[in-house]
Amino acid sequence: MAKYTGPLCRVCRRQGEKLFLKGERCYTEKCAAERRKYPPGQHGQRRTKVSDYGIQLKEKQKARKSYGLIERQFRICFREAERQKGTTGEVLLQLLERRLDNVVFRMGFAVNRREARHLIVHGHFTTNGKAINIPSYLVKAGDIVEVKETSRDMPSISDNISKLEHRGLPDWVEVDGSSFKGKILHIPSREEMQLPIQEQLIVELYSK
Ligand code: SF4
Repeated sequence: MAKYTGPLCRVCRRQGEKLFLKGERCYTEKCAAERRKYPPGQHGQRRTKVSDYGIQLKEKQKARKSYGLIERQFRICFREAERQKGTTGEVLLQLLERRLDNVVFRMGFAVNRREARHLIVHGHFTTNGKAINIPSYLVKAGDIVEVKETSRDMPSISDNISKLEHRGLPDWVEVDGSSFKGKILHIPSREEMQLPIQEQLIVELYSK
C-alpha cells in the first residue's frame, strides 16, 4: 500500500482520536479533532455499527498511523515482535518506540515523526558518533543520539530545542539541549509509553 500523503488531521478524525501528527497545532484549539468530533466526509455524522474485526482494525490503524508506517513496515515489525521473548503486544510497542525517527521526536528535536524522518534521511543525526540516515534504525539502552555539528544552526532544530521544556520528555530519555545530545536511559516499559493503544487487539487481528 502506498504511503498516505493526504491531510493529517483527516487521519485523526477518521480514528476519532488525537494522534498528534502535526506538532504545535495539536496542542491548540485549532486542532480539527477537537473542533469537529465526527469522521470526515459527506456521511461522517451517520451512526454506524462496528464489528469486532472493525474495532481491531481501527486499533491497528491507530498504532500504524501514529508512527507513520505503511502496512508492510508495520507487519514486519509485528513479526519481529512475535519472534522476540516477552508479550508480543508490548514488544511491538517497544520496537516502534525504539525507532530512530520516534526517538528524535520524543527527544524534542523534531515537532512530529514526519519531520524527524525527514531530518534523519537528510543526515542531520548521529547515533553513538556514527552518521545514521535510516529512520527505522533501532536504538538500544545507553545509545547517544546527537544532532550533527554542521546541522546545529538549522532554525527548525534550534527552535524545537527551545520548546523542550514546554513539551516535556518521557522518563526513558534524557536530553541536553545545549549540547544537542540525547541519551536512551532504558527501553521503555508499557507503563512508561503511555500510549492510548490496546495492543492486544492488534495481536488478535494479526493472529487470525
Ligand atoms: Fe490530529 Fe489535531 Fe494534530 Fe490535526 S491538529 S494532526 S487533528 S491532533
